[in-house]
Amino acid sequence: MMEMKGIDGTYDRAAYLSKLAEPGSEWDILVIGGGATGLGVALEAVSRGYKTLLVEQADFAKGTSSRSTKLVHGGVRYLAQGDIRLVREASIERGLLHRNAPHLVKDQLFIVPVYSLLDRLKYTIGLKLYDRIAGKLRLGPSVFISKEETLRRLPGIRAAGLKGGVVYHDGQFDDSRLAVNIAQTIWENGGDAINYMKVVGLFKSQDGKLTGASVLDIESGKQYRICAKVVVNATGVFVDDILQLDNPGGGRTICVSQGVHIVLDKSFYSADAALMIPRTSDGRVLFAVPWHDKVVVGTTDTPVDTAELEPRALEKEINFILDTASAYLEKAPQRSDVLSVFAGQRPLAAPKNGEQTTKEISRSHKIIVSPSRLFTMLGGKWTTYRRMGEDMVNRIEQELKWMHRSSTTANLSLHGAISPLSHSDPFYFYGSDAALIKERINGTAGQWLSEKLKIHPQQVKWAVEKEMARTVEDVLARRTRALLLDAAESRRIAPTVASIMAQCLQKDDDWVQEQVTAFTKLANDYTLK
Ligand SMILES: Cc1cc2nc3c(=O)[nH]c(=O)nc-3n(C[C@H](O)[C@H](O)[C@H](O)COP(=O)(O)OP(=O)(O)OC[C@H]3O[C@@H](n4cnc5c(N)ncnc54)[C@H](O)[C@@H]3O)c2cc1C
Repeated sequence: MMEMKGIDGTYDRAAYLSKLAEPGSEWDILVIGGGATGLGVALEAVSRGYKTLLVEQADFAKGTSSRSTKLVHGGVRYLAQGDIRLVREASIERGLLHRNAPHLVKDQLFIVPVYSLLDRLKYTIGLKLYDRIAGKLRLGPSVFISKEETLRRLPGIRAAGLKGGVVYHDGQFDDSRLAVNIAQTIWENGGDAINYMKVVGLFKSQDGKLTGASVLDIESGKQYRICAKVVVNATGVFVDDILQLDNPGGGRTICVSQGVHIVLDKSFYSADAALMIPRTSDGRVLFAVPWHDKVVVGTTDTPVDTAELEPRALEKEINFILDTASAYLEKAPQRSDVLSVFAGQRPLAAPKNGEQTTKEISRSHKIIVSPSRLFTMLGGKWTTYRRMGEDMVNRIEQELKWMHRSSTTANLSLHGAISPLSHSDPFYFYGSDAALIKERINGTAGQWLSEKLKIHPQQVKWAVEKEMARTVEDVLARRTRALLLDAAESRRIAPTVASIMAQCLQKDDDWVQEQVTAFTKLANDYTLK
């Protein structure tokens, strides 16, 4: 097992990299991609006792996995599409995640306002079925509520024609914090997961089977040759880039569609229950979900030409969300009210010869095994990340004729899981680490970097020392959620964050300047002019 932490549990990247360079090292499983999919596969592999290495070209959850709607859900939408098997699978996973990461996943009430008797019937029956499918792992029962009760719970909702509402339960979570905690659980179980390491080539034995990958350290520019018995492609919307490295000139498997969210102050939506609009004017689902004392509203589904690590929201998407939200929120939000806007990308199945249109890859994931034995995961969702990992490792064992080892992840608590904190505590998302951070803060509690976002200098140090944060963006976008919660405020505190990080990482003034410039540009893209 590779030792990457010092005696006090501090993360030491240099020591880690020197182990990667050790001659003769071979991993059982090399996972490319540090989003939900790759982390799920790596955790499954390491918990079954396989020597596992995960490499992520940027930060953990830099891609789609930090840009979700923040729901751990069975998928009411898939129920409407009749995909009971997927709803059942996701409902079970929702229950397991709620149990294994209670500090990050909470039971969230949702209300669907209904404006016709047919809708009342449809959603009441549909959501009762949703309850039944989840069985014992159900979070709570769905019920119909009167018009008066709906108006009381959703102040500002359009009253004309309102017939009532259907209340149901789903999970709500913090996506990038979950990713960091899964990476920590991988380390704690003896696995290796490292960020800012990009796969730039694959190598094969004479019989054409993959034997490993060339990995570039983005920070130093140094390349490492990693030997592995199996390579897993868990790169989300970038799967085709890795498939091309394996088989140059092969066809595309996916196209890309993006979804945008805006973040607003709670004064636009002060309800505790989340709002679910099953069918907007153009047939989409729209959510308004309370999150970290703000409200997240989205999403869209817009085909785009290229896969991007930092996708940009299109004007038409922003306008669609603002216009639709105005019909349901207490105050109609204007562009200037948007605290942050973020976009994430999902893969769609590429059209085959002769087909005109793309179709959605089922949210139920799919595994492709290339002749070289590259294992690629397509589709899926955050909620089912554990099951995806289990299926992938089962498939590897099957294809390579390894003896089957049973999965234990259904009962594996994730890092931070035991938490006495209520979700209203500003540090709730640290789970069991919160007490340690509060201890460090002790005596300097009032000295916030950002009072309104409750970010303290000690959290920056913690992120560097314990959570593998390497850049200002890692701290402000994914270790804390400042960039997504209030982009202007995150831009304001970036210089101080950079200085604190420079001390921890022994970086010079040029590094501080580069970090501040890069983060300022990024935060500008999350604000609306
Ligand atoms: C708008 C939107 C909202 C969503 N909301 C929800 C929700 O509420 N609940 C839910 O359950 N699901 C949701 N999903 C789905 C869920 O977010 C995704 O299924 C999941 O995050 C995808 O994870 P991934 O690991 O496959 O991809 P990603 O998170 O994109 O991770 C892939 C990683 O691979 C890395 N990578 C790429 N190339 C290389 C390379 N050469 N070397 C090393 N690393 C590389 C990338 O940097 C990236 O970090 C949503 C999706 C979208 C688009």
